[in-house]
Amino acid sequence: MGDKIKGTLEVGANENGEIVINHPDLKPDANGVGHIVFSPSQARHLAQSLTKHADEIERETRAKADIERMKAAAAIPVDRSARVLTDGSPVTDDHRELLPSGQQKGYVVLSAEERAKGFVRPVRRTYRHAVSAGGCGSTTTMALSLAETYARDPGFYSGTFCATCRSHFPLDQFVWDGTTEQVGQ
Ligand SMILES: [Zn+2]
Repeated sequence: MGDKIKGTLEVGANENGEIVINHPDLKPDANGVGHIVFSPSQARHLAQSLTKHADEIERETRAKADIERMKAAAAIPVDRSARVLTDGSPVTDDHRELLPSGQQKGYVVLSAEERAKGFVRPVRRTYRHAVSAGGCGSTTTMALSLAETYARDPGFYSGTFCATCRSHFPLDQFVWDGTTEQVGQ
């Protein structure tokens, strides 16, 4: 993934998430100090290349850390009995009753304590009713406690609400906004 700058200067990255510059002429002088000399245009090109590599390596390092965190979270079994409503109150018998908006009176989520054990997927709040699955194509944004429940336990729900259709549908009709990834997987 090295970027050659005019001449033989090379910018790249190592496995430790650090930026590396290689140049065959970078040998110590009589005082033990190595030098590389740039023209102004070479210096600007180098600055751009360094910034690009710094951005890339930070993205990769973050992505790797996310994967490790999600793996660690997946090793902790989910306790699906730790259920409350979205506001943290106890689950009521009538929470599934529908309001005029088409939404339920209340929605069950995993408790804050259970969600804090770690997420096995990124926390995403907005999904799309996929046209390819017969949906309307609109997006719906949900409360954070619901989004965190999906992230902790993707299989917790079987269906969800579309704010445009004002109705609930099976999860295979929804994808996370900006992705082709089905909600609940
Ligand atoms: Zn819809």
